Amino acid sequence: LANPDAFNEASKAFAKAVREDPFSGQIMPGLGTAALVALINSAGAFPAKNATQGVFEGWEKISGEKMAEIITQRGGQTTHKGCSGCIVNCSNVFVDEKGSYVTSSLEYETIWATGGMCGIDDLDTIARLDFLCDDIGLDTMNTGVAIAVAMDAGYKEFGDGQAAIQLLEEVAQGTQMGLLLGNGPAAVGKHFDHHRVPVVKNQSIAAYDPRAIQGYGVTYATSPQGADHTAGPVLAENLAAFGGQLDPLKSDGQMNVSRTNQIGVAMMDSLGLCILASTSLGQPEVFGTLLTMVNAKLGTQFGPNELAGLGIKTIHVEREFNRKAGLTNKDDRLPQFFKEEPLPPHNTVFNVQDHELDSTFVILGGVVYNAAL
Ligand code: SF4
Repeated sequence: LANPDAFNEASKAFAKAVREDPFSGQIMPGLGTAALVALINSAGAFPAKNATQGVFEGWEKISGEKMAEIITQRGGQTTHKGCSGCIVNCSNVFVDEKGSYVTSSLEYETIWATGGMCGIDDLDTIARLDFLCDDIGLDTMNTGVAIAVAMDAGYKEFGDGQAAIQLLEEVAQGTQMGLLLGNGPAAVGKHFDHHRVPVVKNQSIAAYDPRAIQGYGVTYATSPQGADHTAGPVLAENLAAFGGQLDPLKSDGQMNVSRTNQIGVAMMDSLGLCILASTSLGQPEVFGTLLTMVNAKLGTQFGPNELAGLGIKTIHVEREFNRKAGLTNKDDRLPQFFKEEPLPPHNTVFNVQDHELDSTFVILGGVVYNAAL
């Protein structure tokens, strides 16, 4: 630490701001990320049954509120420290009817992928699927979506929880179908020659349908990491519940917020800060506290632009890696069905144009240039 006293003072102020923020200080420790089930479903943006619906009829049975109720009744933990040193504590411990451990943590994206996306509305089944993914060593999102694609292709019925569990166990057994599922949704879609495969760069989308929150489509398409929601979340700008000003069903302004937030997240990742602890950073004084922490630790004189520069540099390196691996702007696209199949209940398609996607990150002189700075 270049300046321990200044760092300690600023880090205490930052921790206070994180605890006082309603999202990171109350919602996350209370319901965890599963709080988003009700919110995103009510926005018509919860991709259900392999993204053929934006509202899932069984959402109340798999909501964060229901999960907290079950955990409390059974003697599990609704608040749990998922990562060492965390002051947010978004994690939980889900237990069975006898109070025995099943899994930790049961999170929003997992509940969506292995639940709503597969038409499954039973939290015990979802918790078992989460345990199996953890035990086998699989990502729950890509695995849930792989099962959903298989169901959509007619291999199993949507809503058949036992079939989903058996399919996942086949991954551990190494059967032909298990190996296919373990390779993710793109491999499953190719095998069944199925057209509705919600992936970008072979990575599954997350629990925000890009037809109902258009900015997520920009993030999914242009993030060097594939369809990663955490690479550039755009909820705050799109949902009225968070004070959002954009129309989530329209393309206006979506590219700009995705780009700005992708740079912001890459900056936060570079600093080692969790995005769930970041919501208070929208307040200028809290962002100033973060700057003080960084400068006190490193002995630097960074301003906001230098800090954002960390994110820009990171994205530049990632895009260069992709370019050298043979990826082009043709890989910065959503699957065609998002542009052709309207998503109920809003019945909109993804309407951000290709040229807007291509202008998200403009390379000038070998550097990713952010027009917003
Ligand atoms: S660091 Fe982030 S993901 Fe980990 S427990 Fe804390 S809030 Fe949750």
